[in-house]
Amino acid sequence: MGENAMEKVVSLCKRRGFIFPSSDIYGGLANTWDYGPFGIELKNNIKRAWWKANVYERNDVLGMDAAILMHPKVWEASGHVENFYDLKSDCKSCKKRFKEDDLKDKKKCPECAGELTEARPFNLMFKTHQGPVEEAANLIYLRPETAQGMFVNFANILDSRHPKLPFGLAQTGKAFRNEITPGNFIFRTREFEQMEIEYFVRPSEADSKLEEWIHYRFDWYLSLGIKKEDLRKRPHGKDELAHYALACTDIEYNFPFGWSELEGIANRTDFDLRQHAHASGKDLRYFDDATKERFFPYIIEPSGGVDRSVLAFLINAYNEEKVRDDTRVVLKLHKDLSPTKVAVFPLLKNRAEIVSLAKKIAQDLKKCFVTMYDDTGAIGKLYRRQDEVGTLYCVTVDVQSLEDQQVTIRDRDTMLQERISIEKLKEFFNTKFN
Ligand code: ATP
Repeated sequence: MGENAMEKVVSLCKRRGFIFPSSDIYGGLANTWDYGPFGIELKNNIKRAWWKANVYERNDVLGMDAAILMHPKVWEASGHVENFYDLKSDCKSCKKRFKEDDLKDKKKCPECAGELTEARPFNLMFKTHQGPVEEAANLIYLRPETAQGMFVNFANILDSRHPKLPFGLAQTGKAFRNEITPGNFIFRTREFEQMEIEYFVRPSEADSKLEEWIHYRFDWYLSLGIKKEDLRKRPHGKDELAHYALACTDIEYNFPFGWSELEGIANRTDFDLRQHAHASGKDLRYFDDATKERFFPYIIEPSGGVDRSVLAFLINAYNEEKVRDDTRVVLKLHKDLSPTKVAVFPLLKNRAEIVSLAKKIAQDLKKCFVTMYDDTGAIGKLYRRQDEVGTLYCVTVDVQSLEDQQVTIRDRDTMLQERISIEKLKEFFNTKFN
């Protein structure tokens, strides 16, 4: 991608309607972003692809969707009230706040060289109050991970669906962390979306299932086009592990700002179920019919970020290509991820019959594939615009089409064109997209 890779992607996102700064007209809210028309399609397509691979294509994972607001005792039992913090230091002069991990010199402000306070723990959970009275008894948290919603439903799932070990629960949803140093566009924000699986296993098979999931999740990114040389697995050192984890491997992507975590796959042991059983007084053990034993399963957790995936897929897809004397920007997104599959144009927008035929074709295709109609520019410009947002095929209707009922299809990646009869269009796209 060359230099300024992030700037190029951020600029494309705003220019073409993928991602905007939040509350833009008020100058933006720092490190908060809104997804525009193409961005939401890309994000939904990523979540859909994730759901397909992890729920529909497997026999051992069930989907669910828990509430963001949960009983405050959940976060006491899970250890988040006590342990979910970063160490921060404040500058006594400029008042800026820093994450202890990011500081080379723990005593001096990296911005103004002022004196730093001693590092203090800073809990990352957002607090709010439920109901009209703001008092301690009504304190609740915005969830910092979706995982707990699945742990506290473990008994409900057993009682309603009777799954046998090993089995998993999957959900996507918003999580909130009051990060000290958010940044790098949508990589680290305070409000973000996760895609998490909690996979319940016999303790004896935890190690092998952890390995299986690391490979399965790694391959998922590759299957959607992430370049192999830009993806790696990084096992955690003992000192990096979260308070609940026995082992963890991150899947990292080679972002323009360096290798960084896309997803973590952890062995959470039986920590969470044990804690919730103890705190709630409910028996959350699994009963094994064959051995007549009751025990707490271990949990393998592949936990990925939707927004980080959006960023990785955008960077991975961004290409600048020399076409004769021009440079074309093209997002070579995987077919399942492209926000729009087909765009239809009339070659001449002042010929009513051509416009009407093009609109009719677009309308017809819309029933099967995400399709858009555009007649707001000359053909070259329309192609470029679609290339920039990753549209897979452009269909052009011209004078000839009125006579022979054929149109020109242009392929995003090869830019090759072919004539095809209008009645064959759906069949053509079906073979390409399904
Ligand atoms: P990091 O070390 O980058 O802070 P983490 O190890 O704390 O991440 P986890 O608790 O493992 O993250 O969360 C699982 C996933 O959720 C991460 O792999 C990431 O994709 C996503 N995620 C976590 N925090 C954020 C955030 N602040 N902004 C965007 N995505 C996030």
